[in-house]
Amino acid sequence: AARTSGDAVRAYLPSMGQIFLRRFQLVTQFRQALDSGQVTVHYQPKVALPGREVLGVEALVRWVHPEFGRLDPDEFVPAVEATGLVDALTSFVMDSALAKVRGWLDRGLRLSAAVNLSVRNLADETFPDRVAEALRRHDVPPRLLSFELTESGVMAEPERALPVLRRLHALGVVLAVDDFGTGYSSLAYLRQLPVDEVKIDKSFVLGMGTDLGDMAVVRSIVELGHSLGLIVVAEGVEEDAARDQLIEMGCDVAQGYLISRPLSEDRFEAWLRARTVR
Ligand code: C2E
Ligand code: CA
Ligand code: CA
Ligand code: CA
Repeated sequence: AARTSGDAVRAYLPSMGQIFLRRFQLVTQFRQALDSGQVTVHYQPKVALPGREVLGVEALVRWVHPEFGRLDPDEFVPAVEATGLVDALTSFVMDSALAKVRGWLDRGLRLSAAVNLSVRNLADETFPDRVAEALRRHDVPPRLLSFELTESGVMAEPERALPVLRRLHALGVVLAVDDFGTGYSSLAYLRQLPVDEVKIDKSFVLGMGTDLGDMAVVRSIVELGHSLGLIVVAEGVEEDAARDQLIEMGCDVAQGYLISRPLSEDRFEAWLRARTVR
């Protein structure tokens, strides 16, 4: 038995080692990747229900690695988040997004941009000042910037996150709770946060067509959100049927492949033109 478990351990070690090595490589290469244009931002539209009006975009980071190719944000973002480099990531995405918002305003389009935050940003008491500075530098009204934060991000260290959230809110930026329904807390905690928007996690929206339980969860989040005076956003809207159900439930905003995948800057501009010029 001892021998078997020893073999099992030996068989397991190399792959663990590979995972750690790759993670280590990604973290050490990220700074240079940012500076050399390997990292970009894609934009996914959000539309007002029941119509088709484009309200704004979610900014999503992308990394095309010279050796590994296109990397999944779900792999490299957590690795970067575990280091101080996440400050550089958030600043990069925020700056890119604010430059886009400014450009749209200059063309008479009032579109907002949402940036994802990590736990570390919420624990950083200098973060709200950096946001205020970026808004001034890009000359963008605070209402056109929103931040998406997860329950776990807030609940990791609520006593540090809350003052940061209050200061962000006082600046006038929009705060959204992301991936709602997947955490452990929900109702009680949502009431205590200075948030404006709740995003229903895509797993429930994707399951709505086949799973009555998911449908019930989506419906109750829409009702809960509205009873707290929040804007309710559904992400992961892939099918007409889901969109129709969300409209029937009174959901305010939809985001998902049905409307558009996240697009590069250029492709998003083309998408926008095709939408508005008709
Ligand atoms: P998220 O914030 O929940 O972002 C939504 C994810 O759902 C995105 O994945 C988006 O491409 C995907 N998505 C959108 N519509 C649909 C749909 O209709 N169906 C399906 N199946 N998926 C859809 P992505 O871009 O791969 O990002 C994954 C996660 O990585 C994000 O989840 C977020 O947690 C993180 N992330 C991405 N960009 C950033 C960033 O700039 N900063 C931070 N801190 N995290 C980021
Ligand atoms: Ca998000
Ligand atoms: Ca989400
Ligand atoms: Ca997520």
